Amino acid sequence: MFRTVTSWSNHKLEASKECGRKLGYMLDGVRPDVTFPYFAEGSFLHRRIENFYDELPKWKVKKAETYAGRCRGVWWFSVVNPGKMQGLDIEWRKKLNGNGEWEEDLREKFIRKSNVGVSAINIYNEYFGKQPPINSEFPFNIVLDFKVGGNNYTLGLIGRVDELRSPLLIRETKTGFEEPSIQEYHHGRQVSFYVLGVLNELVNNPNNKELAERFGITQDIKKRIKADPLDVDGILSTEYFLTRTGLINPVSRTKEDIHSLLEDIIKANERVRRGDFSPNPTRNCNGCKWKYKCHNDGDGVSETVDGKKILFKSSNTTVHISSVRVNKKRKEPQRELLPFKV
Ligand code: SF4
Repeated sequence: MFRTVTSWSNHKLEASKECGRKLGYMLDGVRPDVTFPYFAEGSFLHRRIENFYDELPKWKVKKAETYAGRCRGVWWFSVVNPGKMQGLDIEWRKKLNGNGEWEEDLREKFIRKSNVGVSAINIYNEYFGKQPPINSEFPFNIVLDFKVGGNNYTLGLIGRVDELRSPLLIRETKTGFEEPSIQEYHHGRQVSFYVLGVLNELVNNPNNKELAERFGITQDIKKRIKADPLDVDGILSTEYFLTRTGLINPVSRTKEDIHSLLEDIIKANERVRRGDFSPNPTRNCNGCKWKYKCHNDGDGVSETVDGKKILFKSSNTTVHISSVRVNKKRKEPQRELLPFKV
């Protein structure tokens, strides 16, 4: 028997709140036009952690400073110079001056202020001489059947967790300049997503049996999750590793957070079922990875949004758009939901 469900990730969920068209691009698997420096830097640092225990002997480094120097070199030659990350052009965005003109190329500034050196030192100090995680970049892809308020739901959850550590600990790495907010520490959806996804994947996927045992999944936990896939309260510990400061801070989640996550996904799912993929142009469009495609598709981003100019720039062309148009007649195609065998 085949049912259809949308596979929700935290990014798709965020997009469902921001802009229907962006969500549509993600559901359709449309390749982004560009990426931005902070994403590139984040991906780069995540890869260094993932490959730390392989790269260290290859690079023959024995000090944090030498490791950081090596990382800066790789960052420069493999990312900054080619201006690409994972095959996407990095857009070094510019800043608006008071006259609404683009005045400063932020590429140089970003390189000067780069997070890579200081984060590399903290990564070295945190991982050197310690036990590696039992799994890095652990993927989950599950379908949940559950009831809320007498209604039955089937939802897909997909994601990738930075590290599983024994016993029963999830570590998430944050590479940004700013610390996560208090709201994110206590109720951020990403960690709720991970707690729900990891537990159900490890309990229900027989291919992960050995890993589940090493992670610390006991028969009691198995029984509990099999009886109620949402009963994850208090089983796992979670923490953030902040590469900018080197701190490791615990993050807490309760059953209420899991329920609130599911309510958000149910709402987003309704949007997909209604076929509501309308664009929502705001100043955030300038940081949208699909902005050129959206411009070509019409009705979306404009030159001026909330009084701020949005620049469309690629290596060959610079396009200014003259107005916002909302075409009420235009109907977005209904997205096909992903088939899933149950
Ligand atoms: S550019 Fe703006 S309107 Fe277009 S998809 Fe992105 S966020 Fe939505």
